[in-house]
Amino acid sequence: MTVRTVLVTGGNRGIGRAIAEQFVADGHRVAVTSRSGEGGPEGALTVQGDVTDAASIDAAFSRVEAELGPVEVVVANAGITRDTLLLRMSEDDFTDVVDTNLTGVFRVIKRASKGMLKARFGRVVLISSVVGLYGSPGQINYAAAKAGLVGIARSLTRELGARGITANVVAPGFIETDMTAALPEATQAEYLKSIPAGRFGRVDEVAKAVRWIASDEAAYISGAVIPVDGGLGMGH
Ligand code: NDP
Repeated sequence: MTVRTVLVTGGNRGIGRAIAEQFVADGHRVAVTSRSGEGGPEGALTVQGDVTDAASIDAAFSRVEAELGPVEVVVANAGITRDTLLLRMSEDDFTDVVDTNLTGVFRVIKRASKGMLKARFGRVVLISSVVGLYGSPGQINYAAAKAGLVGIARSLTRELGARGITANVVAPGFIETDMTAALPEATQAEYLKSIPAGRFGRVDEVAKAVRWIASDEAAYISGAVIPVDGGLGMGH
């Protein structure tokens, strides 16, 4: 295994934290961003970084580069929801989610690609959602942003694929985190009925897929969408 420098955005809790923990356990040099600049897992460097602010992301990368070396694996994980039905959705509800979940990813990969191009190596992993492909009532903003990540990964693959850089999407289904705990119980029960695995997913199950797609074993896989959803989105 080659030891890499890995940066995970939003690595202080939930899926991002589990991904960072997995990379630490595997022996990589790991950094996470959090908005507070605190709270990453043990063994990882936590740096302040808000994906809605390009200067903050630039500073976060510069600090990681100075302390751990050029970022070779970037996991764009930070994300928010502002769920409500279309007629009640304000323009701010829409643009805030797009700014964090889509434009935020653009800011992160743009900064990351500089070092990756120089190194002629990179692994870009974008955390999307089954909702981006399957749709979900009350999540027009979120689904639009998450679907957009597929376009980003595939365009990045076409732009930078010949330079040793891969870009893939991991699309989790319903994973037990703060984000899903906030959903009404009736919504959770509704989801559960449609998941072939008959259960919700765990954060470590997403982390295992990210670890693999970022590994040397996955060098010839790019522009792919990898579901981690217990079969929920099958075929989408
Ligand atoms: P959580 O709400 O538990 O964590 C979200 C993370 O994103 C936090 O670390 C949060 O930081 C960070 N974040 C939010 N906004 C920003 C910002 N502007 N700048 C930097 N960091 C930010 O979510 P999950 O762990 O559940 O979700 C992680 C990712 O996985 C998201 O992209 C989500 O859309 C996606 N996902 C989750 C699913 C699930 O079922 N849980 C299913 C499919 C996809 P802070 O602590 O500062 O708020």
